[in-house]
Amino acid sequence: MMASVDTAALVDWIHRFRDVIADKREWLTELDSAIGDADHGANMARGMDAVVAKLDTGVPDTVDELLKTVGMTLVSSVGGASGPLYGTLFLRMGMAAGPVTELDAAALAASLRAGLDGIVARGKAEAGDKTMFDAMAPAVDALDAAIAEGADLGAATAAAATAAAAGRDATEPLVARKGRASYLGERSAGHLDPGAASTTLLFETLAQAATESS
Ligand code: ADP
Ligand code: MG
Repeated sequence: MMASVDTAALVDWIHRFRDVIADKREWLTELDSAIGDADHGANMARGMDAVVAKLDTGVPDTVDELLKTVGMTLVSSVGGASGPLYGTLFLRMGMAAGPVTELDAAALAASLRAGLDGIVARGKAEAGDKTMFDAMAPAVDALDAAIAEGADLGAATAAAATAAAAGRDATEPLVARKGRASYLGERSAGHLDPGAASTTLLFETLAQAATESS
């Protein structure tokens, strides 16, 4: 049973996220073709391939430097809204984590909360706007709640992943109020938000890394 995620477990998370993005690339593109410009799969795949390529040249020793590297690489390699938003998530996570070599459940939750706050500061999304926020905010809330109830890292991150998926599914009937999908108005209803879908993959792979990395 892991009590914390160290830099190796975080790198494992990043690799798992890259792999599932590659697997689900067509699905993410299909979701974005319904209410956007059909590039979310390509954007995320390009960004995560660049992140993994960067980490292949060397992994920083501390959590803050690792997450900063991930964030900077996403910002610089992804055009489109999702690059700066995911980039901000990782940059703020790193700033909150500080120069440590591992995060326990509470520190991971605080780091993700800071990342979520960064996304809100940057994109101004609120609950129900049909964005990645609608998966991420319930996930971070569920993580906090599980930890407050005494759940261990594996159970807490699993609860976060379940909450993210529910948040993703709840975006389907919504009318988009932020991002490219908002240009469609009422016609954006009836489709899952692509960013909420990729965010759910982010939390599902975090739960896997938190339970399965060695
Ligand atoms: P683009 O919209 O520039 O083509 P992507 O297709 O890669 O970029 O990403 C679209 C996703 O970005 C949306 O599905 C939504 O989840 C997210 N998004 C867009 N604008 C915002 C915002 N202001 N705040 C939070 N998330 C946003
Ligand atoms: Mg798009």
